[in-house]
Amino acid sequence: TDFGYKEVAPEEKTRLVGKVFTSVASKYDLMNDLMSMGIHRLWKRQFVAGCGIRQGDRLLDLAGGTGDIARLAHKAGARVTVADINHAMLTVGRARMDEAGLVQGFDWLQVNAEALPFADQQFDHVTIAFGLRNVTWRDRALKDMHRVLKPGGRVHILEFSKVGLPALAKLYDGWSFQVLPRLGARIAGDADSYRYLAESIRRFPDQETLAEQMREAGFERVSWQNLSAGICAIHRGAKV
Ligand code: SAM
Repeated sequence: TDFGYKEVAPEEKTRLVGKVFTSVASKYDLMNDLMSMGIHRLWKRQFVAGCGIRQGDRLLDLAGGTGDIARLAHKAGARVTVADINHAMLTVGRARMDEAGLVQGFDWLQVNAEALPFADQQFDHVTIAFGLRNVTWRDRALKDMHRVLKPGGRVHILEFSKVGLPALAKLYDGWSFQVLPRLGARIAGDADSYRYLAESIRRFPDQETLAEQMREAGFERVSWQNLSAGICAIHRGAKV
């Protein structure tokens, strides 16, 4: 398939994203380390450290995947619900937590971020790391995050963003579109999925645009912070 290279209809996207993550689940953690040269661990640590988690806070980690954010949040004192649409990713995540003797600290749920099965005003924090760009209807997902937050609660988004330095942007493009699909082919036996990932990063809104979409969904005090010159950005917003 060449779905990474053409616009896909929204109804198609959810299915394709499902295929991608089912395909990469067993190699997901290894690939993250290789593709980012380990830097994703630093980004994630900085992301969670800035959430302002207090002991006992209820935190919903959306698109939680294999549980990296959930683990860090749990360590910071949160009661964590991990939600992901993909059964294979959740299975890998749970097995990993089990090995670390950690499974009991979490609730695991197979959930579409666009239609959260929670009552209003349940959580102190909603986190979503490298997940929002995979969601088909971003506006619905943002609104639902806002809905399930308690007043005073905050949303935290970690996502690839727009690189500010032209020279770095060029290098990074080469890395994404040349190196990543090859790595994907060699390690995970799946170049297409990694092409999709690179393409989805390119299509994702830049810092200012995402901030505006968060405001449209009802968030206030929206701010962002670039990581690694904008390769990633952390956006945060409050429900007042
Ligand atoms: N948050 C983890 C991390 O930082 O390592 C996983 C990120 S992984 C790149 C993206 C995750 O988003 C996948 O596990 C995928 O199944 C999940 N996902 C994609 N679309 C989703 C949706 N509509 N609702 C919930 N999760 C979704």
